Amino acid sequence: MQTFLRSLLQQRQQAALYRTRQIHNSPQTPRLVINGRPYFAFCSNDYLGLANHPRLKKALQHGAETYAVGSGASHLVTGHTQAHHALEQELAAYTGRERALLFSTGYMANLGVVTALLGRHDAVFLDKLCHASLVDAALLSRAHIHRYPHNDMPTLARLLAKSSAPHKLIITDGVFSMDGDIAALPNIVQLAKTYQAWVMVDDAHGLGVMGQTGRGSLEMYGLGEDEVPVLVGTLGKAFGVFGAFVAGSELLIEALIQSARSYIYTTALPPAVAAAARESLVVAEEEAWRRERLLALMTYFRAGATQQQLPLMDSLTPIQPIVLGDSEKALAASAALYKRGLIVTAIRPPTVPQGTARLRITLSALHQENHIDRLIEALVAVLVQRIDGFDGLVSTTD
Ligand SMILES: *Cc1c(COP(=O)(O)O)cnc(C)c1O
Repeated sequence: MQTFLRSLLQQRQQAALYRTRQIHNSPQTPRLVINGRPYFAFCSNDYLGLANHPRLKKALQHGAETYAVGSGASHLVTGHTQAHHALEQELAAYTGRERALLFSTGYMANLGVVTALLGRHDAVFLDKLCHASLVDAALLSRAHIHRYPHNDMPTLARLLAKSSAPHKLIITDGVFSMDGDIAALPNIVQLAKTYQAWVMVDDAHGLGVMGQTGRGSLEMYGLGEDEVPVLVGTLGKAFGVFGAFVAGSELLIEALIQSARSYIYTTALPPAVAAAARESLVVAEEEAWRRERLLALMTYFRAGATQQQLPLMDSLTPIQPIVLGDSEKALAASAALYKRGLIVTAIRPPTVPQGTARLRITLSALHQENHIDRLIEALVAVLVQRIDGFDGLVSTTD
């Protein structure tokens, strides 16, 4: 086995796909301390800056005092506390749906819901850029998998028309996690109607951030439970905590409680985490300035980067990637930024398609304009002026 593992790791290294972990020793904020040196981080999903909020910390402490640290069992045994239950009711109200069901992670929510809904005779239709957990969920369900090119509605229509599966489920990210653009939800919903398919939206990056009141990509398009019966949200990104949920009809949730294996066969989330998530929903509402600030910073970044001719993607969310192509290039750019005190992780295949390795820049409500100025200055130095011996990746003029 050692020989096999060594060669597997060598291949990863040679392809510039080797992953390493940064150890930091500071609260989760845009300012991280690594080896005693301060950095500005532009890659967390803590979009609203709630992870380090004093009220959430208090709620977590109070939850632990009240309910203990561990939940002790699965939800169906003795793991389901009032904190979990109240959070589910509040998530249902927040998303405007009949009910919601908590899962330990978004990954598990996706596995649970897709495997509960589909079997081997069914068909699932996924955008090519869907999150890995959705692809894994589809594989685990054993349904026929059809992948359509990113947001390509004519292809989706063709695939749906050809399918005679008894149940068809269209799955998409609401906000795409690595590109930051938004799914063509009105078209998807229309096609679902035409071809009698169900729709599931994973809005891990939209909820809390996008839409008039932060209800995510569905709110942007005025879509509800009738059009999108299955909504998945996470609590570890904009809400700054941990966990995930599925929101939908009474029947959907009851069916998931009975048959979603990643719900049934696992220990319930620590109740204190549920208590912190409850507080997060309240704070996100009360401090709506966070969302406004975040989107203002996004506009500020885009204006500055455009002025410097940095090649942005078509994203109006806090996810602002700069695609560089090769994995080596993305790694080198990330390393050069790091030397300048900035953390922007290089995202490489298989997280993104071959040849589209990138710097995935994300913004937080806690960034300041001067942090963004510094980021843009460093991006120009590294990518355009090619200081630091970087071999030039972005050609903005030709
Ligand atoms: C992060 C993410 C998940 C996984 O959520 P976790 O709670 O981190 O497991 C699922 N779907 C999408 C689109 C994501 O970005």
